[in-house]
Amino acid sequence: MPQSPLLARSLAAVWHPCTQMKQHEQLPLVPIVRGEGAWLVDADGRRLLDGISSWWVNLFGHCNPRINAALRDQLERLEHVMLAGFTHEPVVELSERLAALTGHRLGHAFYASDGASATEIALKMSAHYWRNLGRPGKNRFVSLAGSYHGETVGALAVTDVSIFRDAYAPLVRAGALVPSPDARLAQPGESAADVARRAAAVLEAHLAAHHDETAALIVEPLVQGASGMVMYDPDYLRLARALCDRYEVLLVADEIAVGCGRTGTFFACEQAGIWPDLLCLSKGISGGYLPLSLVLATDAVYAAFYDDATARGFLHSHSYTGNPLACRAALATLAIFDEDDVLTANRTRAEMLGEAMRARFADHPAVRHLRRRGMIAAFDVADARPDFARRFFAAGLDYGVLLRPLGDTVYFMPPYVVGEDEIGHLADGAAAALAAALR
Ligand SMILES: *Cc1c(COP(=O)(O)O)cnc(C)c1O
Repeated sequence: MPQSPLLARSLAAVWHPCTQMKQHEQLPLVPIVRGEGAWLVDADGRRLLDGISSWWVNLFGHCNPRINAALRDQLERLEHVMLAGFTHEPVVELSERLAALTGHRLGHAFYASDGASATEIALKMSAHYWRNLGRPGKNRFVSLAGSYHGETVGALAVTDVSIFRDAYAPLVRAGALVPSPDARLAQPGESAADVARRAAAVLEAHLAAHHDETAALIVEPLVQGASGMVMYDPDYLRLARALCDRYEVLLVADEIAVGCGRTGTFFACEQAGIWPDLLCLSKGISGGYLPLSLVLATDAVYAAFYDDATARGFLHSHSYTGNPLACRAALATLAIFDEDDVLTANRTRAEMLGEAMRARFADHPAVRHLRRRGMIAAFDVADARPDFARRFFAAGLDYGVLLRPLGDTVYFMPPYVVGEDEIGHLADGAAAALAAALR
């Protein structure tokens, strides 16, 4: 297939993520030159509606004027300074604002640059917490079947997506897996809450037997993203919180994908009325502008590290920890939540999204388990061919939508700036892409 010079240069010099590069012999790369709100514009002037928020990071559109202005202002003051031994206004203000969003239950923010590093921090912090309390044997982790917490060697210990993990299994000290409370597993007559109770019973048995060696349980609250937008009942989080308390195991909420309002509340955990001991954030927190991640910790966790002995401190570090530009982008993002009362506006927006999907897909013969939680909607496709996701993606591009199924699961995770017309375009594009991919 003939390719433009930029695409040929990209294929020669750039090793693209999450990609078997040889497939680009058939599927051309898409060169993006501009972003405008929920839209991306390619080199030919073609407009694509970003239905997955550019890998779930964008919240308020591309080239958002308010975030741009904040970054311009910060650029003229301070681009970066190391955070060990130094501090600056953006990182302090962001930490205070995040603490306030948790009602000051998680008042200590530790920074990194990407989601997997936040997972690493939460795992290391959990094990080190127990070590500092004189219980070094508590150094194993528990995660849910189908969990995704990132792809570094440490994070793979709690990630259960075989395509990302199998090749590296010999490198990984795998944690224990307990069943997912996946609502799709409901037997006839069972509710999603029943499935949650069933899954929690297995978690209880595991913790009863293994609490002496378990540092933490890590979960993606309400929606397991990468394994296919698996949704579950908040009861599971309530039960998990109680079990973690009873068996002295830390609860880590990985809100990297579901935080920042994605499921309807600012933190997904709020819908269960619980707080974790450690909470990971990344993706949307910088509005989709700059790599930024962080772990919020309770006073109790923080206190276990506060000591005269250097080695009892949490000595983990990344070069760009607390980068001022990324923190300013995050502050501008949080300001938009307040100024525009985004969580309230998103209730209507999310219902429109659900309605648009119901109208096109509820009675579609190939569609199973149409579901939605806040600004995430998804359905599974029955009897999809092995190359379904790629065919769907390519057909979506032809229609002017960016949608990228996870295996047989089609999902929608648009920025919080889409209006009714754009939601309609997304749904129509999905219907056209589904027809083309099933053909
Ligand atoms: C994306 C994601 C991660 C990893 O974040 P990266 O920035 O891609 O390393 C971890 N956990 C969850 C739930 C995610 O969705």
